[in-house]
Amino acid sequence: MFDHPSFDGHEGVHMFEDAASGLKAIIAVHSTALGPAAGGCRMWNYDTGEEALRDALRLSKGMSFKNAMAGLPLGGGKAVIWGNSKTGKSKELFEAFGRAINSLNGSYYTAEDVGISPQDMQIVATQTEYVAGLDQGDAASGDPSPITALGVYRGIKASAKRAFGSDSLEGRTIAVQGVGHVGGYLCDHLAEEGAHLIITDIDQDLLKAVSERTGAKIVASDEIYDQDVDIFSPNALGAVINPETLPRLKAKVVAGGANNQLAIAEMDAALRDRGILYAPDYVINGGGIINVAAEISGAYSRNWVMGKLNILIETLGEVLDEAKDRNAPTNEVAEKIARARIAEAQSS
Ligand code: NAD
Repeated sequence: MFDHPSFDGHEGVHMFEDAASGLKAIIAVHSTALGPAAGGCRMWNYDTGEEALRDALRLSKGMSFKNAMAGLPLGGGKAVIWGNSKTGKSKELFEAFGRAINSLNGSYYTAEDVGISPQDMQIVATQTEYVAGLDQGDAASGDPSPITALGVYRGIKASAKRAFGSDSLEGRTIAVQGVGHVGGYLCDHLAEEGAHLIITDIDQDLLKAVSERTGAKIVASDEIYDQDVDIFSPNALGAVINPETLPRLKAKVVAGGANNQLAIAEMDAALRDRGILYAPDYVINGGGIINVAAEISGAYSRNWVMGKLNILIETLGEVLDEAKDRNAPTNEVAEKIARARIAEAQSS
């Protein structure tokens, strides 16, 4: 474990197995320096336990950085349930998962991630109070996507200001990859400001709906990288900036809501070297976790969420400016700031 390539001084890595329900889960707590660790639960049919462990280690570290950059009193953690989210769910499984969370005594708060629904979390909530992302209850924060999308929209404007000298998106051409929850709301904001949209998705119904209401042009999935656009906004998958796609991009800005956009760490410097301004994903997409944090605080307040979102966009601007001043890759600058915030909390 301590030699694992994805291990980063995690405070705790907990394995749970419940034979009766079939639960196999890993909860990785990367850091609680800033507050209890928070991060979603992913249910995925990994090929091996090693893959599940790698995901838990990597994603929990990412949550420490995301929460630190969003200025939240939360550390970083993540849970993975090893199983098929289409066929492997049961009430018993999520009850066992709830008991597992509860056994950590509040050092980790869970919420939805890939493969997990608010209904699943509602079952988890029968066993533990350390759960958020619910759509019922006094402090319930509901779907985080509209806030994530608003943050991404404002982050795109902040990036445009640095890349083009103006934050206006009127007349700018923007390629949006993925028009699901985040991408769909994002397209509405962009179209309202007068941007020309080029969109892609593998869901034809979603594409048609977004195109009809925004006037976006639709292209095939693989063609999105070759479009002659000002901005490329990934809002679907991870690892979309890679050695194969990077040479194809014509955009001057990459800014979108998808997690883990860079396939390998070297892409950070490669984007800079190509003169493309990259808005680090875990900074620009922090709106959703801000929304969840409001629920964890016990009293959801829209004003508090909007205040935190304003600060997040300022922080993104600081990252982009420092990167420019030092000619440093933007992800590297963001990680340095996140690690400094965590280290400061640790020492105080
Ligand atoms: P979603 O499932 O609603 O949307 C993703 C969309 O991508 C879907 O419409 C899907 O059909 C499409 N897609 C899948 N494969 C594709 C491909 N090859 N080419 C084009 N489109 C493809 O998910 P979401 O909640 O909108 O999240 C989108 C991304 O943003 C994810 O990476 C997620 O981790 C990240 N994110 C989401 C939130 C949030 O609040 N929902 C917060 C932070 C980060």
